[in-house]
Amino acid sequence: MLEYNHINEKIIDTHLHLEAWENEEFSDFTKCFEKHREITGASAINICTVPTRQSNVCNNIMLAFYKLKNKNTFIHGGFEHIIRPVTENMPKGMDLVTQYRELMEIGFDGIKLIEGKPICLKPLGNNLNHPAFDRLYSEMEKDGTHIVFHINDPHDCWDRNKTTQEFIDKGWFYGDGTYLTFEETYNQAIQLLENHPNLKATLAHFFFCADTPNRLEEIFKRYPNVCVDITPGCEMYHSFERNHDFYVEFFNKYSDRILVGTDGTFPWATKCHTWCLNILYEFIATNHKNMAFDDSILTGLNLQGEAKENILYKNYEKRVSKEPKKINTDALLRYINKYREFIKDSDYQRLLPLIEEINR
Ligand SMILES: [Zn+2]
Repeated sequence: MLEYNHINEKIIDTHLHLEAWENEEFSDFTKCFEKHREITGASAINICTVPTRQSNVCNNIMLAFYKLKNKNTFIHGGFEHIIRPVTENMPKGMDLVTQYRELMEIGFDGIKLIEGKPICLKPLGNNLNHPAFDRLYSEMEKDGTHIVFHINDPHDCWDRNKTTQEFIDKGWFYGDGTYLTFEETYNQAIQLLENHPNLKATLAHFFFCADTPNRLEEIFKRYPNVCVDITPGCEMYHSFERNHDFYVEFFNKYSDRILVGTDGTFPWATKCHTWCLNILYEFIATNHKNMAFDDSILTGLNLQGEAKENILYKNYEKRVSKEPKKINTDALLRYINKYREFIKDSDYQRLLPLIEEINR
């Protein structure tokens, strides 16, 4: 199987996830993405929290240790929603703004908000503009903090006849009336940006707008710090292929607003991440025809020079930094102690050797 053909080309994988450790063979999570880095020559990686199998607290701690052990690693942390739906009356010291300050102090380079994904937004109250969120956005906007922001999901998730069994099994079918609609979620996002026009948000997965690029153009015009990433989602690549010539122009024109990420997730096998990054590189920088993420054909945009470099790494460096922040181990230990109850005992046992190492 083809793995990676562009090791000498600079690239940053800006959207990875460290999901959980589960079995012996993956126990050494502090090396899990290093193989990906080695095979692809990625100059840096950005790992985002994803609280699917364990708490965000536990995920944040894993990310901090990962960064402590590996050079050129950026990390984006997330929040523990202690009370659902989201409320302004969080227990003192555990409100979102306090959690945000703690993550920044530990040395997180940005924030991952999965809260705009319908399955996450529903238990939080279906309101992206709740005052508790709003105060958080204000702080991040003021600080210029980078956010990888997942808002909405593919249109098909609302249509029982179009969505896949895999999505239904994951809980990503939203057509039963208890979720916001695609349009409602979209409109909440626009309201959010209206309220915080300078928010430095990278909207994940092309903001699910590959079939309505005029919407993105409007967003780019109105909100100077908003970008999108082209982390798959198969569906956006169908639109890119269908409208190839249009998208060659679009990517050239907006090359300063687009970032590359694989969604590579530990503990998947490394070859998934490297295979995906190879397709993304070829899509941006060559005119090759490849099998895309669901075996449909994808023709490369063949971008050159500045446009190519912007998308492959310069935008991330400009938006976040050329160098990751340093981990403050005292702040990390304080965080572990404060949120101990959100770490399962079995996970805490696995963390202990790492905690002891920094305590020494
Ligand atoms: Zn993701």
